[in-house]
Amino acid sequence: MTDKDPAGRTRLICALTATSAAAMRSDMFGAADAGADAVELRLDYLDPRPGKRDIADLLAGAPLETIVTCRPTAEGGRFTGSEPDRLAILAEALRHGADWVDVEAAVPPHYRPGPDGRVILSRHDFKRCPSDLAALAARLDGSDAAVSKIAFAAEACEDALRAFDVLGHCRKPALALAMKEAGVISRILAGKFGAFGTFAALSPGAESAPGQPTIAELIDLYRVKHLTAATEVYGVIGCPVAHSMSPAIHNAAFAAAGMDACYVPLLIQPGEDDFRRFMDALLARPWLDWRGLSVTIPHKEHALRYVGDGACDELAVRIGAVNTITIAPDGTLAGDNTDYAGAIDALCAGMGIPREGLAGRSAAVIGAGGVARAIVAALAHYRCEVIIYNRTVERGRRLAEEFGAAAFGLDKLDQLDAEIVINCTSVGMHPNVDRSHLASIPPRVAAVFDTIYNPVETMLIRHARAADCAAITGLDMFVNQAVAQFERWTATPAPREVMREVVARKLGATRE
Ligand code: NAP
Repeated sequence: MTDKDPAGRTRLICALTATSAAAMRSDMFGAADAGADAVELRLDYLDPRPGKRDIADLLAGAPLETIVTCRPTAEGGRFTGSEPDRLAILAEALRHGADWVDVEAAVPPHYRPGPDGRVILSRHDFKRCPSDLAALAARLDGSDAAVSKIAFAAEACEDALRAFDVLGHCRKPALALAMKEAGVISRILAGKFGAFGTFAALSPGAESAPGQPTIAELIDLYRVKHLTAATEVYGVIGCPVAHSMSPAIHNAAFAAAGMDACYVPLLIQPGEDDFRRFMDALLARPWLDWRGLSVTIPHKEHALRYVGDGACDELAVRIGAVNTITIAPDGTLAGDNTDYAGAIDALCAGMGIPREGLAGRSAAVIGAGGVARAIVAALAHYRCEVIIYNRTVERGRRLAEEFGAAAFGLDKLDQLDAEIVINCTSVGMHPNVDRSHLASIPPRVAAVFDTIYNPVETMLIRHARAADCAAITGLDMFVNQAVAQFERWTATPAPREVMREVVARKLGATRE
């Protein structure tokens, strides 16, 4: 270990992939400023191939711990020269003060540049998670090298859980990383499982491996420097999931509440089997400390079936969708639907009434999709009279029949006569922001709720404000449902304003 060693903490290693030695050296200082603990100098990216002078200049006065890698094309790198030349570059790096060199396990031990105490012995599979992962990891762990590294492509999120198994079994410092989007949790949570390090890119587009987050994401979004062995884990299951605002909202909330918790994205392919396989793998590992899941499209119905009617809230069963799973320390599951709760509570707050105050009022719901279904079920539950207007009349009728509502086509909107109007369609959403189902607000309407949150001020909301109605936005609903999830999982009041600010900031960024 060197005097720059971050003393047992999981290193945040910034992989540097510049193609000139001067740019790579400059990026090394950029990585230090960005908060990295170490840099990986990917010398195989340098073009032309680095000479002795380049290596000496790169390493002189390095501000951080250095790992030098010169990966051959056969192992997913860019070095096309001979094997002796490649190993000579690594040996040269050690001579000039590199703290570590990454040497592929395929290199025979007697050719390895050394000493072993400065070698990270690595193994990569860019196609899949090796079926003999445990045996491979054990072999690396049993070698003379000081550190072992195994990296493989994750075909599914459960592969990333296998990376944590590897970390749990290694006796000496190890890195176990699942590449690609499905494996990103292995990079985010490496610190919880005591990994030697985790890799990050300096900026988007500078990744040295698929699925690598940026250093800013790991530090600011996932707060990896605060992870401990006791960190509780939460996540959002979806397909796609990369666009989800939930990690930003919940991680900010955990930070504001001073909680040792981390919230991660989980890309689970659309099939119910995919969902079940992941859940089974997760629950088989209670030591993950997984405490909650948000569930989004297309897995909400799968979640209801997996958790089972008996363990789900009554309205979630009626709606047929669970978007929140709570996992007790003994593995017991509970399912809720905070979509409806978020919507109804936003509406009631806007109208200044309790949920029970909806009884006997009338609401026109425009739309008959998933969001409309949750809202109609909740309105009916609180004995509000519901009239559904939908483009596809038959779909509207089917929903109406289920919940004792009336249904019409959009052509009947000019006869709308209700106290509450709720838009549950995408009409008015970015980029078609100059559209609205209503040209003006009919006289009897007292409250208008547009579930769209991008933009927050839709044309319908602007009409409502002009008509002096209570105006409830999709932002209110979105924040409410996240608040409800946070409080369901943690049984503590959510930092609502922090969460709202994160969503508003993200939406502002989305519209730019
Ligand atoms: P969905 O299941 O796909 O349903 C879409 C609904 O919009 C259907 O009723 C559809 O009518 C109607 N529609 C779509 N395009 C239309 C058009 N050009 N003219 C008239 N009607 C049209 O979607 P969803 O999941 O219910 O989401 C609906 C909206 O809710 C989204 O656009 C989103 O803005 C909002 N949302 C808000 C939140 C929040 O937290 N605030 C969360 C999720 C979604 P047909 O039946 O005729 O196809």
